[in-house]
Amino acid sequence: MHAVDLIAKKRDGKALASAEIDWLVQGFVAGTVPDYQMAAWLMAVVWRGLTDGETFALTEAMVKSGDTLDLSGLAGIPVDKHSTGGVGDKTTLAVAPILASAGVPVAKMSGRGLGHTGGTLDKLESIPGLRTQFSADEILAQIRSVGACVCAQTPRLVPADHKMYALRDSTATVESLPLIAASIMSKKIAGGSQALVLDVKVGRGAFMKTLGDARALAELMIKIGHAHGQRVVAVLSSMDSPLGRNIGNWLEVEEVCRLLQNEPDAEPRLNAIARYLSAAAFVAAGRAATVAEGEELAVKQIGSGSAFEKFCEIAAAQGGDPAYLDQRKTIPQAAVRQEVSALREGWISRIDAKAIGLAAMRLGAGRTVKEDRIDPTAGIVLNAAFGAQVRAGDALATLHTSRNSLAQEVLAEVVEAITIADQPSVEPPLIYESHGL
Ligand code: URA
Repeated sequence: MHAVDLIAKKRDGKALASAEIDWLVQGFVAGTVPDYQMAAWLMAVVWRGLTDGETFALTEAMVKSGDTLDLSGLAGIPVDKHSTGGVGDKTTLAVAPILASAGVPVAKMSGRGLGHTGGTLDKLESIPGLRTQFSADEILAQIRSVGACVCAQTPRLVPADHKMYALRDSTATVESLPLIAASIMSKKIAGGSQALVLDVKVGRGAFMKTLGDARALAELMIKIGHAHGQRVVAVLSSMDSPLGRNIGNWLEVEEVCRLLQNEPDAEPRLNAIARYLSAAAFVAAGRAATVAEGEELAVKQIGSGSAFEKFCEIAAAQGGDPAYLDQRKTIPQAAVRQEVSALREGWISRIDAKAIGLAAMRLGAGRTVKEDRIDPTAGIVLNAAFGAQVRAGDALATLHTSRNSLAQEVLAEVVEAITIADQPSVEPPLIYESHGL
């Protein structure tokens, strides 16, 4: 086979055979297919698309490029959860302990934040001492002992995705539904879970800007999962506004603690989606017959204190000091707190997730490039929610950062990101639809 022929075939809109896709992927990982040829093929895919058969073959080839985790020896049906990413999306930190506290094993490999989106690993690592890098044996041992492990992908898991994603990122070839679906699902299949809940985010702060695109991605990922014998549920949820009140790594852990400790001021939309995703996972794992039953179980796990206790156990098993979760008010705070005030009266009609995510990143909570260091205490706390009535001078948000100059730089952006209208408006739904339940 010759790479140039396979590029030409895709360029001309023809479907490749599974063996051809496998040859290309393994050759790319081995270094016999150079970056420039893979980049050309990826760009042809962006324009021409892939058939479902080709997408399955690509996923398969990517899984085959490395090791897979064997979770078959665990008691119960192991569950994984994936969010396509957003701002303030800390649901994994709540869902994993809710599930594990009810005896559902959770094997969750997560990523880091980049650009306006946050990453679960960065959030977890804001707990002093906590590690996220483990070998396959350590992951299995932790799931056996505490019921869940939330960690980084092992280096040998889907090396093809690692290499292809870096190339896509620098060649404008990320935006392709089959490439995104194969990338996400190859990692979820190699991770070994038999049940999977996908939270496909839609809106200004998400990868998928329209419900139609999100639905198409969800359906494709469900088909790939089914082809591998996985039970898959996809939930399409809003990412127009940030999720919850806190954006930034430690700030988000703190908000999750409040949710898991059933505090009455926990943000309602964050609460609702954490419970819904847990319920969907309970159904996927065969632990509940319906979403309503699953939600009841999630509420019980939170109410009894078991979910919070499990969160502390998971953190401790990964080297973190659980005292920071229990006595979280003693964690070192950001040196600078800058209030953002409303310039006029009215009703909050928009909180732009992407703009807030970028502002949090510039305060130190995220990365512009992969190599950037993050400040675990930096971020934004929203004081006013969508629909709230405000007067000029009211506090809209508080910026947390290490330097006053950073706060002054992003102040105007945060004011701009929060729209105050003359009339109250209706907030878009939190959950649009679910597939596979
Ligand atoms: N997330 C992934 O893991 N892969 C993509 O291609 C896009 C988002």
